[in-house]
Amino acid sequence: MTAAASPPELLRAPLVVEFPFTRSLGPVQSAFLSGLRERVLLGVRTCGGTVMVPPAEYDPVTAEEIRELVEVGATGTVTTWAWNGRPRPHQPLDTPFAWVLVRLDGADTALLHALDVPGPESVRTGMRVRVRWAAERAGAITDIACFEPYEGPAAGHGTPHDGAFADAVTGIVAEARLDYTYSPGRAQTAYIKGLSEQRTVGERCPSCRKVYVPPRGACPTCGVATTDQIEVGPAGTVTTYCIVNIKAKNLDIEVPYVYAHIALDGAGLALHGRIGGIPYDQVRMGLRVEPVWTEGGRYPDHYRPTGEPDADYDAYKELI
Ligand SMILES: [Zn+2]
Repeated sequence: MTAAASPPELLRAPLVVEFPFTRSLGPVQSAFLSGLRERVLLGVRTCGGTVMVPPAEYDPVTAEEIRELVEVGATGTVTTWAWNGRPRPHQPLDTPFAWVLVRLDGADTALLHALDVPGPESVRTGMRVRVRWAAERAGAITDIACFEPYEGPAAGHGTPHDGAFADAVTGIVAEARLDYTYSPGRAQTAYIKGLSEQRTVGERCPSCRKVYVPPRGACPTCGVATTDQIEVGPAGTVTTYCIVNIKAKNLDIEVPYVYAHIALDGAGLALHGRIGGIPYDQVRMGLRVEPVWTEGGRYPDHYRPTGEPDADYDAYKELI
């Protein structure tokens, strides 16, 4: 994105969403990854007699279980490719490279990996390549550091293999990770900047006149742009709540605690916040609360009772 497309007054921040999970491999993929550690490339023979690399546990056509492992060569042929001019973190190489599908000698399907060449003019479909093994191997696809051009003879013709390895790899941690730069846009930038001054700023819909907090730049009911900024609160009313009994990871709050919908005075929509400063079993609908700001005052850490009488149900029933 260019500087012109993102005005400097908009906030931006790196954001990582990740969900790493541990999975067991099963006999076929356990043999495949254990083999990589020993520089042995394994495929599996399908019901139709072809050899799949990387291997699967079930036949892609008949869905039958397939277990007949075969060893294939560490050399192969590029079947298609795409140039990656700007490698991202955690990709196989940190210099520009080609993503390639390689059909290893002895295999009938192709494996996706990286090819280390100086530029796209050095890649072509049909070119011969070989595995460059990682210096240290752990039983992972990264044991193949990448592929490199190769002019020598083909090797490996699908010889049977029993798949037995000492200390076989039986599970892996699969990282699901999205790493990007987030900009909250005009409305939420104003909201976040307001919070840093301990003010809560919503936006009024020109059609239904409701004030939305946090603002999204458009009315979720009418679909029209909201532009008028309106300061709401600081106090508000608990409209609904729940008692949380599960301790969340990385959250240093004693359980049980109360999480509530809070309609700030002047807002047409309730926002979420934790209630503190009162025993959890005394929190109730209509309780009047005010924000307690974090150290540094960047956002409300929680809300506490103001000591005012409870709000009438009629005053907030439209906001539940
Ligand atoms: Zn509206």
